[in-house]
Amino acid sequence: MADNYLKLVNSGFTKELAKSLGLPRPSILRRYRRGQPLVPGPVVVLGAGSAAHELTETLLGWGLDVRRHAGGSEKLGALILALDAVEAPGDISSIALETGAALRSLAPGGRVVTISRPADATDAPARSAARQGVTGLLRSLGRELRGGATANGILLAEGIRADAPSATAALHFLLSGRSAYVDGQFLTIESARGELPADWDQPLSGKVAVVTGAARGIGAAIARTLHRDGATIVAVDVPQAGDALAKVANEVEGTALQLDVTRHDAGQIILDHARQRHGHLDIVIHNAGITRDKLLANMDAARWDSVMAVNLESQLRMNEAFLAAELPGLRIVSLASTSGIAGNRGQTNYAASKAGVMGMVVATASAMAERDGGINAVAPGFIETEMTAKIPVATRTVGRMLMPSLMQGGQPLDVAEAIGFLASDAAGGINGQTLRVCGQSLVGA
Ligand code: NAD
Repeated sequence: MADNYLKLVNSGFTKELAKSLGLPRPSILRRYRRGQPLVPGPVVVLGAGSAAHELTETLLGWGLDVRRHAGGSEKLGALILALDAVEAPGDISSIALETGAALRSLAPGGRVVTISRPADATDAPARSAARQGVTGLLRSLGRELRGGATANGILLAEGIRADAPSATAALHFLLSGRSAYVDGQFLTIESARGELPADWDQPLSGKVAVVTGAARGIGAAIARTLHRDGATIVAVDVPQAGDALAKVANEVEGTALQLDVTRHDAGQIILDHARQRHGHLDIVIHNAGITRDKLLANMDAARWDSVMAVNLESQLRMNEAFLAAELPGLRIVSLASTSGIAGNRGQTNYAASKAGVMGMVVATASAMAERDGGINAVAPGFIETEMTAKIPVATRTVGRMLMPSLMQGGQPLDVAEAIGFLASDAAGGINGQTLRVCGQSLVGA
């Protein structure tokens, strides 16, 4: 439905009609297609210092048209703000204002990316203020962009260079159409780990990936996207979804595993299946999830306990099995939700389970790093699936229009793209984090 509206307000006579009626006109987002350019025009790198130099070298290495100042009438593909060296709030202003002057030149689907360092309690107050200030600048700037352009930031932990593997991979992801619905977010690069792919179009080549809840919705999109990027897929879902599951597994040339993830031995069953059928297990995507919404005053134990069991406790138990198996380099990505960040009326059980996923990810990160692997979460906002189709039409429509800049819900593919990035070896320096895929909104299922 959102898709039809998008087409109507972006083409022919109905586009003109929508314009004259003053209707909201969300843009068709620039999404990844193999072979398309990484960005829709020249890239301007603003700022001096080592990061600006390292970024310029990286971008030139990708064959992009790189400029050190904005100007001229040409439409720009991206603006990159190197703010890693700010020591006091005054250090932000010249780059912020130069960015402002260049914003009107940003092409539809363009990108703004800040490169900075996280504020730290041990910093001098002025430096911490300047660093934290960058986050406010970026988030507000993101809300001012139009035409499907987005703004996101990369935070380099102390001692990490802008050309560290995961900083490079994060930049590639944020510039590309893969990050179409990631907006107003920060990725922290906390270590120099990570290995860049030989082929950016096949970053998961040779990997075996398990996707739970793969029979439909976001899970099916994850299976398709990870397969497109080179992975062999084990598609998991409950026996009741067996037919749909088989269809997805066939489509991605993988194997289907009918399994309720709340089973106590689910982790071992997955491990055995992956090893027997495919020889190894490299990636686990904990996507299976349910909602059983009720106001807390009307909540019963069955609703509360089933949501906790599927959305959180199953993941905790499966992770224990995977950690015990000492799989080298295993990367896990879990599905959280913006409801777990902002809360949502009628979703105390669901929000508790999804906030729990974020807590689980933080506390599992070091054990994963010891095994050369990593664990992160993705928190989708309003994504158009069968789960959100149950939300009343009026609430859904208002929800879409609340996205301050993109004015639309996301697609399952948008969540899958972020998961594919975090599941890749290139994201090795990113661990224990939650990345929102929410079009800058906190409205979520
Ligand atoms: P969906 O209901 O369309 O699909 C969920 C899948 O999980 C189904 O195929 C279902 O059979 C499977 N599943 C449920 N319980 C299972 C179990 N015990 N064992 C194995 N499989 C099981 O949901 P969706 O919208 O695609 O959401 C996927 C994930 O994304 C969920 O974790 C959800 O909480 C999260 N999420 C969705 C949205 C959204 O807007 N759709 C927003 C935030 C988070």
